[in-house]
Amino acid sequence: MDTLSRVLPYLWPYRKHIVLSVLCACGISFLWAANLSAVMPIVQVLFNKESIHDQITQQIGEAETEIDARKEAMRDLAKDDHARLAHAQADQSAAAEKLLKLQRIRDHVLPWVPRDNFNTIALILGGLILATFLKGFFIYGQEVLVGSVVNRTVINIRQALLRRALSLDYQTLAANGTSNLMSRMTNDVEILSVGLKTLLVRLIREPLKAGGCIAFAFFFNWRLTLLTLLVVPCIGFVFHRFGKSLKRASHGTLESMTGIFKCLSETFDSIKVVFAFARERKHRQKFHRANKEYYEKSMKVVRVSALTRPTTELIGVVAVLAAVLPGTYLVLRSTDSLFGLQLSDGPLQIAELATLYALLAGTLDSVRKLSSVYSEIKRSSAASERIFAILDQQTKVPEPEMPRVVNRHSSEIHFENISFTYKSETVDGEARPPALRNIDLRVKAGEVVAVIGENGSGKSTLINLLPRFYDPDHGSVKIDGIDVRQMRTRDLRNEIGIVTQETLLFDESIFDNIRYGRANATWEDVEEAARQAHVIPFVTQFPDGFDTKIGDRGQKISGGQRQRIALARAIVRDPSILILDEATSAVDAQGEQLIHRVLKSFVKGRSVFIITHVINDTFLDLVTRIVVLDQGCIVADGTHSDLLESSPIYQRLYHASAQDRAA
Ligand code: ADP
Ligand code: MG
Repeated sequence: MDTLSRVLPYLWPYRKHIVLSVLCACGISFLWAANLSAVMPIVQVLFNKESIHDQITQQIGEAETEIDARKEAMRDLAKDDHARLAHAQADQSAAAEKLLKLQRIRDHVLPWVPRDNFNTIALILGGLILATFLKGFFIYGQEVLVGSVVNRTVINIRQALLRRALSLDYQTLAANGTSNLMSRMTNDVEILSVGLKTLLVRLIREPLKAGGCIAFAFFFNWRLTLLTLLVVPCIGFVFHRFGKSLKRASHGTLESMTGIFKCLSETFDSIKVVFAFARERKHRQKFHRANKEYYEKSMKVVRVSALTRPTTELIGVVAVLAAVLPGTYLVLRSTDSLFGLQLSDGPLQIAELATLYALLAGTLDSVRKLSSVYSEIKRSSAASERIFAILDQQTKVPEPEMPRVVNRHSSEIHFENISFTYKSETVDGEARPPALRNIDLRVKAGEVVAVIGENGSGKSTLINLLPRFYDPDHGSVKIDGIDVRQMRTRDLRNEIGIVTQETLLFDESIFDNIRYGRANATWEDVEEAARQAHVIPFVTQFPDGFDTKIGDRGQKISGGQRQRIALARAIVRDPSILILDEATSAVDAQGEQLIHRVLKSFVKGRSVFIITHVINDTFLDLVTRIVVLDQGCIVADGTHSDLLESSPIYQRLYHASAQDRAA
């Protein structure tokens, strides 16, 4: 059961339903064994032409004579022959017990039994139908109860998965990968749900049924039944062996399902590129390979589980024969022992043997069904391992235990002695070079800082430390003297408005996308933000205006329009810290200059970080200070005119940008 037991806390709230369903299963198992036991009276009636009443009366007479005879025999024994006395006494009490049983049947059962044999059988068959109806009712009850429990449990698990994923830090999430998370939240959860249903329905019902049959069989003839049970450890061994390989194989299947998800999401997320480069074929082939891998992995599961069933069936038949073969011997020879081993209370009756056979076959049926249950359980146990692996992940950006109160930022942001290296491994397993080295940067509240540097110089990495997308390896980021690690992330991020290069919007209206920045923003707030970010000019041209739906990831509008909406979203937040990471890269030059001018009034009283490649006049008018990064280090810091004189890297970047503009 291993990891599956971890589902228990999720099942716990529904324990009442589960108990009820187990009661249903008990009913099913009792009725199942009772139905099979109906063989006894039927065979009894068919093989002896006399009515049951006569048979019982006759048997009672025989038993009484036997008891008398034993009494006689005991009287003849010498008083000090203890061994034989004890033996005779045991015989006598066995005979008395048999008599008692018969008398009970006569007193309690016979009054219900018709005198005519045909009527008796008709009555039994009628009883069978009734019992089967009742059993069906219990089956329905058990499955509906379990279905509702499992479906609700699975919803809770899926929600727990999302909650956990959202509480993780950016780096861990990126390392997990979207397709991996998606396949675990859908496919694995689905497999777990199938497994749970199997577990709560069949894994409870079948052993109970088998147990019921065995119990009834014990009642009819415990010695022969015991012979059957000797084989049970073999079945246990087989299940154990197959179980191990099944679980391993199931893990393989689930992982290759992730491959399929990944292939699909890559293809459709970048469908424009796929079309543009006419590489549909490559993606088809990749998908084909992923499917093939899935096929091979899942065939392993199929093979192992296909083997389980015949094997258990074979062992089961051997088990049944272990009882039936000696039983047949007893019937045919009209004896009660084999090789001196007593196997029956008296000479075995055909009816008794037939019932025993029916009950053991009933047990075998359950065991056979269990073998397929077993493979499903193993599959879902593998799935739950993968699910709980996500639930066990811990964020690398933990919330503080005693969070500090965060007031609106008003004095200084300090990047204090920061070093940072991305944790993900390179292909050859080596550690990455540090992305930031010994950065020390103080920014006064109200400064507008441009962060300039070549691609990959660490600009985004540095800025992402502020909203705690990651924490630095060394040093700390302090806002107004408080380490950001001592703030609740929610409070911290409430202070920050951020616009990144890849503008991620949602498939909602433009209005809703802007209001995403602040849930309680009014219509006027949204409109004002839209005006500042120059959203109004293009929105008024859309027939639906602010109600325009922008499609999946905002695909129905242009890149520049997307960026302006993203900017409005950050503005409506009224943040004390604004971060623009190449936020206007897709906006045309004229639009960008307009935005710069509007931002000029918006940035008052806020600390602003702007990462850009375009250094033009309106931009220089906006910023108060420029920081130049190179290979993770700050190499220059000052105003435009200072840096033009002192920093060769800045000169290069500035002139490159000027050439761009000229072109
Ligand atoms: P930029 O100045 O262009 O914004 P970044 O801060 O994005 O540069 O990247 C700095 C360095 O860190 C680069 O060498 C880049 O390859 C590396 N890097 C960026 N993001 C990751 C990541 N998620 N995992 C590993 N390395 C990264
Ligand atoms: Mg960047």
